[in-house]
Amino acid sequence: MRRAPHFASLALLCACCCAHAEVPPAIRGLHERLLVLDSHLDTPMHLARPGWDISQRHTYAEDLSQVDLPRMIEGGLDGGFFAIFTPQGPRTPEGRTQASEHGLAVITRIRDMVATRPDEFALATRAEDVLDIVASGRRVVLISMENAEPLAADPGRLATYHRLGLRMLGLVHAQNNDFADSATALPQWHGLSPAGRELVQAANRLGILIDVSHASDAVFDQVLALSRAPVIASHSGARAIGPHPRNLDDERLRQLAAKGGVVQVNSFASDLVPRPPNPERDKALAPLYREFRQAASLPPEQVADLARRIHDAEALHPLPSTSLDDFMRHLLHILEVVGPHHVGIGADWDGGGGVEGLRDVSQLPEISARLLAAGYSEEDLAAIWGGNLLRVMAQAARSL
Ligand SMILES: [Zn+2]
Repeated sequence: MRRAPHFASLALLCACCCAHAEVPPAIRGLHERLLVLDSHLDTPMHLARPGWDISQRHTYAEDLSQVDLPRMIEGGLDGGFFAIFTPQGPRTPEGRTQASEHGLAVITRIRDMVATRPDEFALATRAEDVLDIVASGRRVVLISMENAEPLAADPGRLATYHRLGLRMLGLVHAQNNDFADSATALPQWHGLSPAGRELVQAANRLGILIDVSHASDAVFDQVLALSRAPVIASHSGARAIGPHPRNLDDERLRQLAAKGGVVQVNSFASDLVPRPPNPERDKALAPLYREFRQAASLPPEQVADLARRIHDAEALHPLPSTSLDDFMRHLLHILEVVGPHHVGIGADWDGGGGVEGLRDVSQLPEISARLLAAGYSEEDLAAIWGGNLLRVMAQAARSL
């Protein structure tokens, strides 16, 4: 999850209707038969909202959410990694304590969501659990961390998080932290810090997947060399298609695949397609995005009002459209470079992901339709939608 720049995609707030009508029933049926997982769901933020219930249907236009049980069922999404995202705060003792408390609050929120809806969701900590949960008719909740800052005060707490269900660890976010340099900041450590190297080794020992999305190229290279297990990029794109520093170049895509890893393709608009600077838009939206970051403490009617004001401001200062075609360009390029056994989907839902024609998880069959049209087989789709993610989870667990 990234905040302000992610919500550039709100330009297309109301563009989500009708698209799934284009998906033929046969493709929808195939999509529903497949194990479909997403490796980066920022939905825990919505779980904190007063009155927001994941069991009920919501709309992106009304409350900016993209994932809930009815839409998961409609889109055939069996589950995924729910992220403990922590905005990078000041790297002071107080800042680290705050991050630590935030991380524990979010993992508690995720576990509570599962515990209070045992007929709808179940926590998975092993690849085998995922299949059992899907067979039981429930949705799969895996837990990941985006930004390891909650561990900065006491990296030994990684073992506690593991006991609570954490199975994927993203080292860093949009700014550098005590463990690693970000792809979107000037280098401080020139890769991993000494504490970052120890954290990677500790994650390996616990069987936690290391996630290199948001990490700098140097961090990517060092993690790949250091990790005993395959590595994942939980929500990233192709730099050959969109030259954002968050995206991976072809050589690094090949290196990730050669180590058995997987890159999960992101749908975050400004990472997919470079956008020209628009200072007037930034000025109009900055205070609204600040308000949005407080959404967890707003009642539903205020969230709806905020969604309308954001939509109005975006309509007043429009950006070039970013669509499912742009997402598919990244996905198809990465498939060409590394093949279907090293690619998945991590669309950054509820974290700023989503483009025109792919606005929430109910529209996921659109991706399946495009992949089949591009010549990929049902077997390929099975690997892309879930098989590859299960494989790297199992490999990380085996490499203890
Ligand atoms: Zn992110």
